[in-house]
Amino acid sequence: MSLDLLIFGGGVAGLWSLLRARAAGYSALLLESRALGGVQSIASQGIIHGGTKYALGGQLSEAARAIAGMPERWRACLAGQGELDLSRVRQLSSHQYLWSPGGVTAALAGFFASRAMRSRVEPVAAGERPPPFDVAEFHGRLYRLDEPVLDTASLLGELGRLASAWCRRYDPSTLRLREESVEVEGETLRPERILLAAGAGNEALLRVWGRSAPAMQRRPLHMVMARGALPPLYAHALAASSRPRITVTSHPLGEERVWYLGGDLAEKGVERSPAEQIRRARQELRALLPWLDLSGLRWATLRIDRAEAATANGSRPDRPFLGIYGRLLVAWPTKLAFAPRLADEVLEALAGVRPTAAEAPVSASPPPRARLPWEETRWS
Ligand SMILES: Cc1cc2nc3c(=O)[nH]c(=O)nc-3n(C[C@H](O)[C@H](O)[C@H](O)COP(=O)(O)OP(=O)(O)OC[C@H]3O[C@@H](n4cnc5c(N)ncnc54)[C@H](O)[C@@H]3O)c2cc1C
Repeated sequence: MSLDLLIFGGGVAGLWSLLRARAAGYSALLLESRALGGVQSIASQGIIHGGTKYALGGQLSEAARAIAGMPERWRACLAGQGELDLSRVRQLSSHQYLWSPGGVTAALAGFFASRAMRSRVEPVAAGERPPPFDVAEFHGRLYRLDEPVLDTASLLGELGRLASAWCRRYDPSTLRLREESVEVEGETLRPERILLAAGAGNEALLRVWGRSAPAMQRRPLHMVMARGALPPLYAHALAASSRPRITVTSHPLGEERVWYLGGDLAEKGVERSPAEQIRRARQELRALLPWLDLSGLRWATLRIDRAEAATANGSRPDRPFLGIYGRLLVAWPTKLAFAPRLADEVLEALAGVRPTAAEAPVSASPPPRARLPWEETRWS
């Protein structure tokens, strides 16, 4: 089979790139080893960052600038007017909140009020606070942030549905490299370009290609899930540091709601056992939202790595990564929100390839959909 582009990995990076390449007239096929929707992508909090989280240190960092245009591009797609038609994707919330249990420093309040930030962060007056902040016990500050939160099952399900005709499940142990071609499950594929978009799986794929570069880093998280009669909440708790103390997103699960807890809690919790991490999460919620009734909730945790291009000091890269090594492309988007920008770079890297607009290599066996962490976990 001759192809313009062969993609490994069906998370957000692979699926978005596949759909953009198909729309540009390239013949493309995606190979996935497990399930469409990815590992990190389906387990992400679904926040389409515009960079405010990276400005909590009181200045617009390089990372904040790099990601600033992403919510607008996603909103166009969600409205059915963007590069992909995501009008069927469920948006959980059009905005998020930043909250501080007490006051915020004068410097941070001043920064939020600055010209650069005024359009991003809006203070919420006492009488207009939504639940769970609409109580007399809340004495802190609340800001509204215009960055959407998506239902990752709906997003990845829709990307998978749009792409499924060109996605195939395969057994990676059958992958062989030939001079000009790639062999999988006994079939010979002749791609002009190959994109490795397999998240943490890129490490093993790079070994197949005999490459030690680009290097990958894993930044582990220990996320917490609480399940029960909880109000919807999409918010970051401000801390003294530049990182949110806790980031809460809310997800429907039958009649109940799951609060998915990330932020510093998940970053610093990697050394804790699941039981210790749940204890810590309860302490944090009691400290931050003391009036909230936590009785009757069920709890679980998820250990998961963020896979990214390695940086000199192991910190988060500021932008998506695309490495170009002859006809081999290697990608890590760094954030779900960066998928459109990563796909731009993939399309640029295809510029030397004439789109053959070949007949679609229709897949007889599209991979299954990846499952959400709270659909799979065991609750305590
Ligand atoms: C807990 C958590 C929360 C996050 N929250 C957010 C957020 O709110 N907003 C945001 O912007 N970003 C967020 N991120 C980051 C974001 O999820 C990732 O940057 C992004 O999803 C990575 O996408 P990906 O396609 O590269 O990888 P993945 O989603 O991991 O997909 C890789 C795919 O490749 C497949 N694969 C592996 N090996 C092979 C192989 N040999 N051959 C073929 N396929 C293979 C895997 O099965 C998988 O389907 C979060 C990350 C985590 C872990």
